Amino acid sequence: MESTPQKLEMFYEGKAKKLYSTPDPDLVIAYFKDDATAFNAKKRGTIEDKGVINNRMSELFFGLLERAGVRTHFVRRLNDRDMLCKRLQIVPVETVVRNMVAGSMAKRLDREEGEELKFPIVEYYYKSDALDDPLVYPEHALLFGWATEDELKTIRSLALKVNDVLRKFLDERGIILVDFKLEFGRHHGEILLGDEICPDTCRFWDKATRKKLDKDRFRRDLGNVEDAYQEMLRRVEG
Ligand code: 5GP
Repeated sequence: MESTPQKLEMFYEGKAKKLYSTPDPDLVIAYFKDDATAFNAKKRGTIEDKGVINNRMSELFFGLLERAGVRTHFVRRLNDRDMLCKRLQIVPVETVVRNMVAGSMAKRLDREEGEELKFPIVEYYYKSDALDDPLVYPEHALLFGWATEDELKTIRSLALKVNDVLRKFLDERGIILVDFKLEFGRHHGEILLGDEICPDTCRFWDKATRKKLDKDRFRRDLGNVEDAYQEMLRRVEG
């Protein structure tokens, strides 16, 4: 058994996770909370055991992606709520991949949710709570120094690779991957996939019934939020 690294100082608290330094400057521990927020934290609540589920589901997805050649910040899951990760300098751009119209795309372009896209689209949003994460062009990231041209190329190709791998894996388990958000960061100069991959950050629909099995149940007050998260974990665990 590998020893569990010690949690030192909490250096960041986000909406869903706390980050702790460890004695190794290259490693951090992410603690997964049950706190749920939506609409830039205008709506707040808790989803029981969300942290445990998101930690475990992220472990499974990161493992799957690593085996498919996607380099991630994931090192190992330490316990129910703690994950050991490589320390990243986060690129301040959220990368969204969509296979179907939903959420902000449906709203922005006045299109029906569930319309299938002929090919996946990659969108970028500037990470800024003050501005509500606005949609940006990749050129904005270059102009304002958020990422280099090479980094953006890597991010786009990794995002599409993640989509291919997860979409196929989930399809085999009766789930449509509607869309998802990724975060990337630099670790010793290399772009790695960071953050988490879970029902908070993805839209998952049951293939047969189109039932939503993700955070939209919380965002839209659809009820049975905990059940949906548990159901998704069961499908992913297979
Ligand atoms: P939309 O732009 O339609 O709101 O979101 C597209 C996809 O990215 C959805 O799967 C949504 O869960 C995810 N997403 C976008 N922005 C955020 C965010 O700030 N936090 C989280 N957890 N997910 C996000």
